[in-house]
This record gives sequence, structure tokens and C-alpha cells, in this order.
Amino acid sequence: MRSKWVKEINVFKKPSRLINWRIGLVYPNSYSVGMSGLSVKLLYHLLNQHQNIFTERIFKPKEKNVIPQSLETQSALTHFNVLAFSFQFELDYINAIKMLQTSKIPLYTKDRNTSHPLLIAGGPAVTANPNPIIDIFDFVFIGEFESIANKFLEALVVSKNSENYDSVAVLPGFYSSDSYGEAVKPIVTENLNEVNYPTAQVRPIYSQPQRKGGLDGYFLQVSRGCPHGCHYCLIGKIFRPHRERSLSNLKQLIISGNIETQSNHFSLIGSSTADYSNIEELISFFLQKELRFTLPSIRVDSGKDILNLISQSGQKSLTIAPETGSTETRFTVGKRITNEQIVSFTSQANQSGISQLKTYFILGLTSNVEAEVKAIGDLMANLKQKNSNMKFNISITPLVPKKGTKFGNHCIDYASISEGVKSLKKSLSSDLKYKVFPTRWAVIQAILSIGGRELTPVMEELATRDGSYQAWKKTLRVDPEVYYRQNYCD
Ligand code: SF4
Repeated sequence: MRSKWVKEINVFKKPSRLINWRIGLVYPNSYSVGMSGLSVKLLYHLLNQHQNIFTERIFKPKEKNVIPQSLETQSALTHFNVLAFSFQFELDYINAIKMLQTSKIPLYTKDRNTSHPLLIAGGPAVTANPNPIIDIFDFVFIGEFESIANKFLEALVVSKNSENYDSVAVLPGFYSSDSYGEAVKPIVTENLNEVNYPTAQVRPIYSQPQRKGGLDGYFLQVSRGCPHGCHYCLIGKIFRPHRERSLSNLKQLIISGNIETQSNHFSLIGSSTADYSNIEELISFFLQKELRFTLPSIRVDSGKDILNLISQSGQKSLTIAPETGSTETRFTVGKRITNEQIVSFTSQANQSGISQLKTYFILGLTSNVEAEVKAIGDLMANLKQKNSNMKFNISITPLVPKKGTKFGNHCIDYASISEGVKSLKKSLSSDLKYKVFPTRWAVIQAILSIGGRELTPVMEELATRDGSYQAWKKTLRVDPEVYYRQNYCD
């Protein structure tokens, strides 16, 4: 179990006489979920760059019906001029609504006035489809925030003097429920090297050292977007084009981050970091400086001999995402990797000293789930047979269609996926560990990721209940899977 953190470093403090504008950065999930990603650290840094604007963090309270408060000054949501919500996952919409309800802030934009905070929502979930929450927020932000951050802070200062938010409304990427339309394109940061990036990242200090990958490391963003275009994936579709930081920029961030964040452990952030043009040089730099690093999921066709370098670092586990057990299906959904490449990469990893491999699969990429199940079982049996000393952790997720991707308009057969999951569990060898994301929650995510404004009252009612699957059933007045089919399948 993770020990409790005892304090945080790099927390912003500003003299109250200078502050004339307060922003609450709301992450509508727990502290540990929020602080295990880059978004809170990055936004907290960017939104504190104006000396007269103080931004504090607010997470979902641990206990039910507790009024949410900021971490920095224990202020309630109503005490802020602006509440900026970051949504990484659609299910957090319900938490956000609960937080507003508990704070007695009227949910709909039309019911609020200038005595209430300005409400803004952003993040990947919102960029892909803001419709389920667009009537709640004064503005939704569509895209990546870095390049617009300073203009946004200046616009807030102007709006304070003019007593309206016209200066925010004209900024690129900001839309109200009236101005947003399906043709909107996300704002992207053109040159990552030129935008402000935190080297003094806010992070907790624990009473005991944390496991690798804990919350106490430095988050190093290597790239944004992805050069590949897998048909089900949001990153490769909406955050285009693929952009990389230069090697010299990354080296500077590593040196400064090591000192200012007081951490020797670097988590590399990016969709496909092994594809980074200078990955070997980057890893060599970590080794030379005797710094630890963690790579996220690796593409097996990255074409670079990084396995030896990774093993030199002492890293013993790797993650790959075959997504499906069939080469043909993989190519059909845009992931151009063969089973032979996966088998060969795994054996090389094993020989390089990697003892544990996490493998990610998606069920529901085709209309023949039974064949998908068999292909996954066959591929895993093959990997295990060739690498009997290796430990495998298999993660299986039912497909969640994302708006804007090629699967956005597909009707997913969740009943078949449920059956497929049962037979997969039976067919996998007992020495393979696996974890399955529950199909019923994938259905709910699917509803939230492709649904529209009709969902706001549904979520409003749901937030007064306990958030369980039963609560969804009660609120929708029908099984969510039936609701999904009735409303989003032709
Ligand atoms: S699934 Fe991975 S490789 Fe494919 S587009 Fe998404 S991030 Fe890129």
C-alpha cells in the first residue's frame, strides 16, 4: 500500500496583496489519480504565470457529501473567480457535477450570474466531444492549452476591468454552447520547444520511498500526438500532427527538472516514446547521468535497438499493446504490426533481461469477437511457450468508440464482448495473469464519449445517486447496454 505523503514541494504561494484574480484548477477525481498524470502539474504551472492571478488545485473529496476545497488555502469553489476543470476521462463528468452540486453552484450556465465563478472545461475527453457537458460550462476549450495560456491569463485580467468575458470568448479554442460546432478543429501547440514547461513540478514527498512509477517523479513530455493512425485511437486522430521536443530541449529539462523537482526518476510522457527520433541518445543521457526513467508502452516496430539500453538502466518490465491477436485484424484497424514482430520483440526483450511484459488488448475491433478471443489466446500461449521464464500481465479492455475516430460511428456489440470475455478467461492459461475492464463500464464510457446534450440531465440526476452501475440503470430507466443500442446504433 502507498504510504501517505507528508508534504508537497513546488507549491505556488503568492502575497495576497498582489492577487486580484483566483483560479481553481479542478481535477474531478482523487489526488492520486490527478497527480499521477501530467495535466494537473502542467496546468498548475501555466495558470500561475501571471503575478496577479493565483491558481490552486481542487480534487474530488475522499468522503461523500463533503464540500470540495482547494489544497493550497482550503477555499470553497464559490471563492474562486474561475473554475478550470480538466477532464481526462468521461466518467469524471459525474464527479464534477457532484462537486458543483455540493458547492451549491447552479449547474447550468443559464442559471448562473456574475456572482458565480466562470466555469471552463478542457482536456482530451472534452476536446473529442464536449456535448454532454457543454450546457454546464461557460466555455469549453478544444485542444492543447500551452500555446494559448498567457493570452488566456491576459484576457482574464482584461475581463475583470470590462466586467464581461468577451476577451476570453474571442480566444482561439474557447467555445460557448452557442459557438461550438462539429467542424471545430482543436488548437495544437506547433513547437513544443518554445512553450513554457514546468521544471519545478509540484509533487508529494512521502514518508517512505515510493515504487517506481509513483507520484514522486518528474514527468518529461517527449512528444505530442502520434505518427501512427490506429483507427480506434483519439491521440493519433485529433492531436495531429506528431510533434517532438528536440534532444537539446529534453536534456535541459532533465538537468533542471532533476534539481528543481528534486527527483532522480523520470516518467517519459508521449504516445509512442520509443518512436522518438533520438531515443537512443536520450536513454544514453539518462544512463550517463545515472538517472532512472520509465518508458510507457513501446511499439515493437520502433526499429531501434533500445532493449539493451533499457536493460542497462535496470528496468525489468515493459509494456506493449498488440491490441489484438491477429495480424490481419491489426492491419485492418491501422496498426501495422505483425504477430511475428511481436513474438520476435518479446524474445529479444527476454534475452535483454526484461522479466515482465504487460500486454494490452482491445475486444470488439471486429464483428467476430469469438475469433478475436481465440487469436488473443493463441498469441499469448505462443509468447509464453517461447519465453517460459517471463511473467505476463494481460490487460483486456472492451472497445470504447471515441468521437472523431473511425470507430466513432460504429455500433459496438457489447453483448458479444461480455460473452467473449467469459470464454477468454476460460481459455487463458492459468500461469498468465490478466485484468479485464468491466464491459458494463465500457458501455457507460461509450455513451458518454459519443452522446450529446441529452446526457446532461441524465448525469445531473445520476450525481444525486451513488454512481454505481445500479444507479445508472435506475437513472436511464433501462439497462445501459440497451440504452446505448437504442440511442446510438442505427
Ligand atoms: S494506439 Fe498508440 S500507436 Fe496507435 S495511434 Fe494511438 S498512440 Fe499511436
